[in-house]
Amino acid sequence: MITIAIANQKGGVGKTTTAINIATAMAATGWRTLLIDLDPQGNASTGMGVEASARHLSSYDLLVDEIALGEAIVSTSIPGLDIVPATVDLSGAEIELVSVEERTARLSKALHNHRGHDICFIDCPPSLGLLTLNALSAADTLLVPLQCEFFALEGLSQLLQTVERVQQRFNPSLGIIGVALTMFDRRNRLTDQVAEDVRECLGNLVFDTVIPRNVRLSEAPSHGLPALVYDHSCAGSRAYISLARELIGRLPRERKAA
Ligand code: ADP
Ligand code: MG
Repeated sequence: MITIAIANQKGGVGKTTTAINIATAMAATGWRTLLIDLDPQGNASTGMGVEASARHLSSYDLLVDEIALGEAIVSTSIPGLDIVPATVDLSGAEIELVSVEERTARLSKALHNHRGHDICFIDCPPSLGLLTLNALSAADTLLVPLQCEFFALEGLSQLLQTVERVQQRFNPSLGIIGVALTMFDRRNRLTDQVAEDVRECLGNLVFDTVIPRNVRLSEAPSHGLPALVYDHSCAGSRAYISLARELIGRLPRERKAA
């Protein structure tokens, strides 16, 4: 299984929207896909239609009580797409884990040798605390959603420093598979300029596909559905299909055959 953390310590940049829709696109292409909700807000769980009452065991239990991964997995309405949901308890995990040994390795241990899925996406919270460190330690690679706004690059340098620290201490082979520009608004000169600057600075690391600002993407979660199901032909859905295709193209060759 290849594991991809979707991280950026800024909130509201499109992490969860990207996690839900790219996971859906991968499942639709035949990849047995697992989505792990690692944000105490549980937006990925809600957006996938997993009601709070259906979240018996969650990513909290995985990290803090070290239950088996299989116990925490629930299926979604999308064939081939399963989820480990999050509950508000998870906000306590940041503190509860501080005093345990190998506190950044809990998720990595839980995922070790898992054979039931081909690909796993981890939806990270908007911080660089222990939850995100667990995700980066467990991941093969990182996908960074970047909103085209003025301070986008500044936040990124902080994230890249964290990635370097994780590479040095916990996960030497952690890669960055790409940066996805999100909430792009063609009519806005500033977003255009920011996108240009980001490409100049990061080069090929930036995916060609740009996710447009699209109201259908923001409506879908309230229906408990990925946008790709809620309205598969809207501009946002089409962009996520294209991003998934690019992502597959960047995966190591031996992992592509799902
Ligand atoms: P994060 O997980 O980084 O906090 P979200 O994916 O939850 O970000 O996005 C923040 C808000 O913006 C949500 O209300 C979401 O529905 C909305 N949103 C995300 N991407 C888009 C987009 N491309 N177009 C319009 N709204 C978006
Ligand atoms: Mg989120």
